[in-house]
Amino acid sequence: MSDIRAYVMQHELFNHHDHQQGYTEIEQGRDGYDFTSLFGYADADLACAAGTDVDVKAISRQELATLWQAIRLTGYGRAVDLGSRALFGIPFAPDRWDEITAALQARLAGKSSAEIYADMLAAAQIKWTINDCYWLPLESWSAAMPSFPSSYRATWRMDELFSAVDMTPFKALARATGRNVYSVSGAVQALNEAIGLMQATGRLAAIKIGMAYQRDLTITDPTLHEAELAFNGLRNPVVGGTSLQQRSGAVDARTARPLGDYLLQRLFERASDDNIPVQIHTGYLAGSWGALEATRAMRLLPVLDKYRSVRFDLFHASWPWCAELGAIAKEFPNVWPDLCWMWAMNPGEAERALDGWLDAMPFTKIFGFGSDTGLPWCVVGYALQAKIGIANVLERRVRGGLYSEADAREVADHLLLLNGQIFFGLGD
Ligand SMILES: [Zn+2]
Repeated sequence: MSDIRAYVMQHELFNHHDHQQGYTEIEQGRDGYDFTSLFGYADADLACAAGTDVDVKAISRQELATLWQAIRLTGYGRAVDLGSRALFGIPFAPDRWDEITAALQARLAGKSSAEIYADMLAAAQIKWTINDCYWLPLESWSAAMPSFPSSYRATWRMDELFSAVDMTPFKALARATGRNVYSVSGAVQALNEAIGLMQATGRLAAIKIGMAYQRDLTITDPTLHEAELAFNGLRNPVVGGTSLQQRSGAVDARTARPLGDYLLQRLFERASDDNIPVQIHTGYLAGSWGALEATRAMRLLPVLDKYRSVRFDLFHASWPWCAELGAIAKEFPNVWPDLCWMWAMNPGEAERALDGWLDAMPFTKIFGFGSDTGLPWCVVGYALQAKIGIANVLERRVRGGLYSEADAREVADHLLLLNGQIFFGLGD
């Protein structure tokens, strides 16, 4: 093993993006975790291998074994195998699956949830984690903080506001803040108060925008009047029309779009006022059947240009538009490109992206890792996969004479840990 590879493989990591469940949910599920809980994102490749619209959660074990053979060499598949070998010393082969379930259960046995997290974070060498609990109701976010290790920081995320088809997200805002939301200005006030509640915990790291799963990333700059018209359409869905959809109480998301865009603009203003970083999902969408074209980071240029004091952490290398994100990050000093999840989606492309970015922009701007997964043992495979990819890139640069060994170590320090610590203001 080369010196730089050995250096990378033992390095602590900053996990820029994750969806960990927390102690309570781990405790509730602990008896049911089996070998399939190591799959992480691999479910989507299983579905891809199955073809058409097959529910891979409902197939037989024999069918699962057949599909696994087809996906075991993809990025998602290799991460599962890496994790299984690192944690249990067992390759993730169908004839070893029962052994893996037993080994996982043995590793969890006798440990509290906090101890399970400590064990897995040590195995993955994770120092800090930015966690996105999008599934928790807004009003329980602050209370959920003690359910995570002290090295975890949280994101504020409420994508439903930006593609609302009814009043549901505004009722959630009202519940969380105790403030009735009768108008757009009331909604903005509640939005700001809800962010304030999370800031009060001292563990808010970023605002997260994952709306690419619901709508495209083009954000216009509507007037308050335009936003109010849209808001009134949501409050009184029958007024002004008699279509079946309106009579059913739901408004076409496009008609409420000025409201969503107006609130996004106010959200960026808040980020600017309080120096809160903004993390945005760009590029590939998890699962299957996603509307990929709408997720291009290029659509964000007007926002990036307007809010120059806001620091943007743009996710997932924007794959398949990694080079495009590299150019954006070079052009816009307020953009940090993030390789979170990218090493699992497409490890080869992740290496090419990192190579291109290292030639184009300061290494102090690139975020090297985020596991983007839900269970602490899945982090182990994803962390290893990222380190292997980063080591491949740096090793080639040392061997080619482009970097000295000291250069490569300095770049590794930044990609793996320092850039995240500096960006999020987290020290030793
Ligand atoms: Zn995510």
